[in-house]
Amino acid sequence: MSPDEFRRAGHAMVDWIADYWGALGRDASAGGSTSAPARFPVLSRAEPGALLAQLPAHAPEDAEPWDRIAADVDGLILPGLTHWQSPHFYAYFPAEASFPGVLGELLSAGLGVNGMLWSTSPAATELELRVLDWMAGLLGLPEKFRNDSESGAGCIQGTASESTLIALLAARARALAADPGLDPERLALYTSTQAHSSVIKGAMIAGLASSPDDHRRVRLIDTDAAYAMDPAALERAINRDLGAGLRPFYVCATVGTTSSTAIDPVPAIGAITRRHRLWLHVDAAHAGAAAVCPEFRHLLDGVDLADSLCFNPHKWLLTNFDCDLFWTGDKPSLLRALSITPEYLRNAAAVIPGGTGVPPVFVGRWGTGSAEAADTGGTPVPPFEAPDLRDWQIPLGRRFRALKLWFVLRRYGAANLRAHIREHVRLAELFESWVRADGRFEILAPRVLNLICFRLGPTSEVPDGPQNDARNRALLNRLNASGRMYLTHTVLHRRERDGSSSPVFTLRLCVGSSATAEEHVRAAWGMIREAVESETVSG
Ligand code: PLP
Repeated sequence: MSPDEFRRAGHAMVDWIADYWGALGRDASAGGSTSAPARFPVLSRAEPGALLAQLPAHAPEDAEPWDRIAADVDGLILPGLTHWQSPHFYAYFPAEASFPGVLGELLSAGLGVNGMLWSTSPAATELELRVLDWMAGLLGLPEKFRNDSESGAGCIQGTASESTLIALLAARARALAADPGLDPERLALYTSTQAHSSVIKGAMIAGLASSPDDHRRVRLIDTDAAYAMDPAALERAINRDLGAGLRPFYVCATVGTTSSTAIDPVPAIGAITRRHRLWLHVDAAHAGAAAVCPEFRHLLDGVDLADSLCFNPHKWLLTNFDCDLFWTGDKPSLLRALSITPEYLRNAAAVIPGGTGVPPVFVGRWGTGSAEAADTGGTPVPPFEAPDLRDWQIPLGRRFRALKLWFVLRRYGAANLRAHIREHVRLAELFESWVRADGRFEILAPRVLNLICFRLGPTSEVPDGPQNDARNRALLNRLNASGRMYLTHTVLHRRERDGSSSPVFTLRLCVGSSATAEEHVRAAWGMIREAVESETVSG
């Protein structure tokens, strides 16, 4: 492909993306009838194997013209897409994208650098360190997490799952360093029954569980009626394990659980982890974004007691997937867990953790930018030692992901990010008020931010239990089959008066797609009511 052909194809592709995003929002923004067929069904209707059946079995021997390849995006790829950027996407948690984020991805690909070492692209490392400190400031995080603090470290990981695993590995490294005679087989970790499955998966990867159901060293702590971890139950479990000769070492608390956005009581959990000297990781994958608004910052209360924290701008902060932010206040333990330096990665600029004979090179000072600006007029700033961010993650290579976050932060500005979060929360509140006002429905968990957990309640004809679950499942399937919206479900274990709990099939509607506006949420509520009414008529 020549530069000229790239230019033409690139411009056309940018046009294509802009048109695609326009088309995704077109139906509802035109105020059209909710019964009109959707141009892009939000949930793909592709049959399994449909694309495979259309793709040649072998790679092409000869070059193909670009136009033919681009045309196949429409013909082959689009039908197999679920449209995550549709304003009618209410499923899971969102994966927000934005034009500045797309441009960041494009530029990152165009530059094609690998920022594994500081020296392999100093700008990639230094921009990342600075935007992580910007974000720490926007969320009101404690100083100890900042890159310009004594032992803080903040960088971009691919996903929250990786952050949870990395935190676990750093916690294990710290526990083993504190007690070199400790048998790693005796380590035990704790999270709530509502925690994301990535915590258990992390334990499986780290060799602490042989399967998702292996709870010999992975304790799932009970939650209260609002699905938040019960700190008293946590402490009982820790004490029980200590009594049994295990060595508790890691707690993962969740700020914004996947099923219902429950907020674990981090201050109380942190007091326990401090008392027992356990690593506390806070998984705020989705809800952490809300802390850019001062009125939601309380959701992160207690993080000063945490050893690490993560949240995903790729969920609810307009930054294209993948972009998870990970912070720890214990960089030495992170390095102990993840740093290894083969000869071919040694370089003059590297600070080799543990001292390997290569002297740290003084590169500059934490300042506000240019060499001149680094003269802070007498304000003491810590020396800046160039870190190699490969030491803060699992893979060696790393993409220049800071660009897209930098673009998003600058192009929107903090004020617009706050407005974005507030608007989604307002829309979720509105939706909740409609659900509450309609006697056929019930709310199943407190709404904390932008997620509503609801369902059709039981009736005299449809009692609670499997029958009503089936009715709600049928409603969900009907809505998703319409192609006009997409929402997903969970099962919540509702606490009954007698102390028992029963599983309840629950619809989840999360207002979080970048383009979702009030007209879309109104349309969604209209569709839900229509679907219920048509069931009543046909049933
Ligand atoms: N933690 C929580 C609370 C989540 O809700 C999710 C996903 O929704 C994850 C972790 C996993 O996120 P990721 O896909 O970034 O690994």
